[in-house]
Amino acid sequence: LAGKTFKPEPSIVDVNGVKIGGKELVIMAGPCAVENYDQIMDAAHAVKKSGAQFLRGGAFKPRTSPYAFQGLEEEGLKLLLEAKKATGLRIITEVTSDKAVELSIPYVDMFQIGARNVQNFQLLKEVGKSKKPVLLKRGSATTIDEWLNAAEYIMSEGNYNVVLCERGIRTFETATRNTLDLSAVPVAKNMSHLPVIVDPSHAAGKSKYVIPLSRAAIAVGADGLIVEVHPNPMYALSDAAQQLNPKEFDSLCKDISMLAPIL
Ligand code: PEP
Ligand code: MN
Repeated sequence: LAGKTFKPEPSIVDVNGVKIGGKELVIMAGPCAVENYDQIMDAAHAVKKSGAQFLRGGAFKPRTSPYAFQGLEEEGLKLLLEAKKATGLRIITEVTSDKAVELSIPYVDMFQIGARNVQNFQLLKEVGKSKKPVLLKRGSATTIDEWLNAAEYIMSEGNYNVVLCERGIRTFETATRNTLDLSAVPVAKNMSHLPVIVDPSHAAGKSKYVIPLSRAAIAVGADGLIVEVHPNPMYALSDAAQQLNPKEFDSLCKDISMLAPIL
């Protein structure tokens, strides 16, 4: 179902009126995690002003350490909905379990399956049973074929609204958090009709590399970006080093709008 042999022409995924995979770029932006009311509201207003169509923000955080901030869960979902009401932005959030899927349904426009859950087949089937669009991140150690099979799990349950997201893979290189596999964009687009976006933030791991990687992603044919933006990155409860401040995000949007139209 995900393959070009099933459907040769590119798919457009419509998320409550925002079309991903069309002529215009789609920008999703916001903090790594929803932290509190002021933080998410400030982030939402800032990213909206610069041109983003989606607000991102994790309420269920898959952290390496069990002692690190795990997210506000349903309280975070409520704050995302407040931000949606205030700005009109579409909301995307990561779901990490069946329970998180169920809780998120009334609050969000799109589910995110994170890199760590790309082969959590039970969870893939669960979001496949829902009709909500799904952003499927590539795992840090999945081949493109495995990633497309993960999309197949979602689609085989009847949900065809899948968008792929390259976010960097694990290599021997340590200067960046992950190695952004830009070749995955044209390769995935050659194998699949699904839209492909890029997450430069989790690939870079450092804010100073996010803008150049974003430009490269658009140049190589990505349909959009998902970027971490925090009103005050230094004080972020997760991924502080890689989040852009609103001013940096604004300059990213200006940069990429010179390469392709933003919706
Ligand atoms: C995230 O988007 O905050 C995240 C955890 O990303 P990834 O799953 O790509 O690591
Ligand atoms: Mn993050």
